[in-house]
Parts: sequence; C-alpha cells; structure tokens
Amino acid sequence: MLTIQRPFIRRIQHVALSLQALGCKKRSWALTNHYCSCTKSQPSRNASTLKLNPTTESPPKPPADHRELGISSSLFTSSIYSPGSPLFLPNGAYVFNRLVSFLRAQYALFGFREVVTPTIYKKSLWERSGHWENYADDMYEVTGRGARGTKNNTATEQDQDEEFGLKPMNCPGHCLLFGSEKRSYRDLPIRYADFSPLHRNEISGALSGLTRVRRFHQDDGHIFCRNSQILEEISNTLRFIGMVYDTFKLGPYKLVLSTRPEDHYIGTVNEWDKAEAQLREALDASGREWSINDGDGAFYGPKIDIILKDSDGKEHQTATVQLDFQLPQRFELSYDTPESGTDRPVLIHRAIFGSLERFMALLIEHYNGRFPFWIAPRPCIILSVTDRDDVKQYAKDVQQTLSGLRHYENEQIQPARLDKVHIPVDIDTSARSLQKKILEAKNKGYNHIVVIGPRDLDISPRTVTVEVHAQADAEDACKLQIAGHSGIPRFENYTVNILLES
Ligand SMILES: [Zn+2]
Repeated sequence: MLTIQRPFIRRIQHVALSLQALGCKKRSWALTNHYCSCTKSQPSRNASTLKLNPTTESPPKPPADHRELGISSSLFTSSIYSPGSPLFLPNGAYVFNRLVSFLRAQYALFGFREVVTPTIYKKSLWERSGHWENYADDMYEVTGRGARGTKNNTATEQDQDEEFGLKPMNCPGHCLLFGSEKRSYRDLPIRYADFSPLHRNEISGALSGLTRVRRFHQDDGHIFCRNSQILEEISNTLRFIGMVYDTFKLGPYKLVLSTRPEDHYIGTVNEWDKAEAQLREALDASGREWSINDGDGAFYGPKIDIILKDSDGKEHQTATVQLDFQLPQRFELSYDTPESGTDRPVLIHRAIFGSLERFMALLIEHYNGRFPFWIAPRPCIILSVTDRDDVKQYAKDVQQTLSGLRHYENEQIQPARLDKVHIPVDIDTSARSLQKKILEAKNKGYNHIVVIGPRDLDISPRTVTVEVHAQADAEDACKLQIAGHSGIPRFENYTVNILLES
C-alpha cells in the first residue's frame, strides 16, 4: 500500500512522469525487423543451431495470443472493408505512439533526422528502383492523374490516368531526398528516419492479426555514407538494436548474415563480395555470435537479420540491416570528394522495430497484455469506495492531478508543454462494490489502482491508497522507491509502502 499525503499528490505525478524517462534510461540498447528488403521474411535455414544472444535468462511463457488480447484489451480491431489493415482503438494507438516516441527520443543519440515522404509514386520511380520488375506482385497499383501540377496546361491532360504504385517501402523516396541537394563528403553520413505507412498486397490467406498485414508502419531508416564509414555505421546500428531489445526485455535473438541469391539479383558478383565482406567484419567486431544464411539476401544486397525467439519458442524476423550498392547507382547519387571529384554513396537500410505492428504483437504476447507502466495504455485507475458526492469530487481531483490535466477555476488554460507527458488515468466512481471494481480493474491490467474513500477526506493532510498491480516485473513496481536514488526529487514527507501482487 502506498500512502500519499495530499499536498504531495502533484509530486506523484512528477514521479510517474520521471519513471517513464527512467524506464527508458535504465534499460539499454536494442534491434528489430527490417522490411526494406524486397524479399519476404523467411525463417533462416540454419538459425535453430545458433547460440542465442541472451537479453533475458528465461523469457516468460504466457499462453498468449495477441489477437485475443488485442480484443480483450481494446487495442485493435479489423474490418471486412480493409482486410489486413488493423484499426487501432485508443488503447492500441497509445501503445503505438509510445513506441514511436521512444524511438524518436533515441534518434538524436544516433544522429537520425526524421523525414516525411509521399505514399504514392509514379510507376516510373518503381521501374527506376527495380521494384516494379522484382516486386510488382506485392504492390498495389493506383491510377491517378499524372499532371505536372500546372493549371490550364493541355500537356497535363495527356497524363491523365497515369499508373502509380502505393509504396511498399521508403528507400526510393529517401534516394530522392538525398539527390535533391548537392552533397559533400563533409555531409556524410546522412541518416533519414521515416514512420510512413506502407502497403504490401499480401494474399488474403496469409493475413493474421498484427503479424501478417497489408498496411503497416516501419521505423524505417536509411544511411547514406562513404565506403570508409560502413563499419562504424553498421556497428552503431547493431548497438542500437541491442539497446532496444534489452529495453523491452524481449527474449534472446540471433544474428544471421544472408548472402547473394543464386539468381535473381542485381549488380555484379564483385560488388556483392565487397558488400558481404563489410558485413562480416561488422559482425565480427560486434562480439556477438552470428551465422550465415547462404543465398537468402535481398535482390539488391546482403543483409543481417535479427531473429527473435518469442516466449512460445517461435522465431520472428524483426530487425534487418542491409547494405545496398545498387539503389545509389540507379538514382545516380553522388557527393563531392576531398579530391574535388565525385563518388557514389553507399546506402544502408535499417529498421529497429521493423514493422511496428508486428513488434506490438510480440510485446502484447510477451507481456501477456499487461504492459510496463511507461507504455501501458491503462497505467492507473481511481476507484471510489462509495458514490458520495464529496468522495467522487475528490476522486476527480486526484485523477486530474495524476494525469497532469488539473487546472483551477478562474485559471486561464495555457498550452500544454511539449515536454509534459499526459498519463491516461481512468476513474470509476460507480455505486458498485469496491471488491467488484478492484477485480475488474485487475482483469483489465491496470498497473496502479488508487482507492479513494470517506476516510481520505477526514484525514489532514488527506491520503490516498495506491495498489501496485500488474507490473511486468518487480523493478517496474518498485520504481516509485528507486526514483529517489536517480536524481529525481525524493519524497521525504510521506512514507512509501508498496504491496506487490504475486
Ligand atoms: Zn530501405
């Protein structure tokens, strides 16, 4: 039980907010599934023989199915009107956005700048990138006006009904961005990040929950660098991957290098050999164990896949890091060299989560629907012991204070600060028994249950009772205690006692 004197309720909010930052800081660097690859993700052939890189000693074994939990936790739904395109409810959108916010916060550490790019491009772009030839079956074709954007120009009429394609990946668009300005060797590496929605026309029989979808989002990133920068960039990407996976305490994963396909590839054998040599060196330098998946590379370059083993022992491709000498050639990208000449940049495709939808499915099952506080869509609920008006009013005051939304009468509402995090705190002041309300709150997976009763009104200063519940682990549950040891204001004026649920 946590007893909090009323004058310090606002401090609780500060603690809660700080905890989120703490949750990010304390956990370390990690990786995911990259869909830049034009090849479909495949289980690695010799992956099962690898010794895994452990991020946890023994992953939990919940008999969880993210599709069932997605419904019971009001995370997402689907519709016959858009098969394979999940519709996120507010709870699911909250988790989705927390994941995006987490990565955005890390981008500054790794030198990525976010960009915003179109959803559709003309067929001619996909022909130039090679996707139309190699990937057309999985792309949505769109008919649109091919106008050049000028009014009253008869030439535009000839371009009506031109063929477009919905983008299945961001790489060509990022090549356009790189090529839009004159580049110097001093500018490199240039790192773009993009959360655009992507579309792939999966066959209907393959669609499943959040794991096989037609519309999804990637934490997509592209690095344009010099040859001499490849090793450092790949190594930093592997560190980034390790940090994220450790943060979420996901199960063990393995690194697999996929090499040149026997046929159906672009570029020369020599180019492939050089690219593969760079990736081998980066893998060796990483200090992690890795293996080779011969012939499983994307058509435009070799890649490193991260294969995650979930709590049920199933393997998922999450992150991918891919070297690409081909797209910069196709888009004729170049930068000025120190010797007053020009050279072609190397392109590295990378994603940390991979598909955000698929990553969410893994998290839902990994946490069995009970998320850690800092990404939980149901972090806290206020329950009233009675439906007395004064108790209900106090419950509302506590709710607003904890959620960071409280303002006082006659106080002009100011714009919310960008660095202020709003916590969705729910409230139940119905006349039902407290026992029923607590049981329901537990079943819904609330991390914290705050109970407000008449006695809280009688004590000066007033108190509330917080039950810590449904934390992913003891560390999460104890963050209120450890907060004082991490540069966050201590709570010297009241006692913190936490009752841990087993
Ligand atoms: Zn890419």
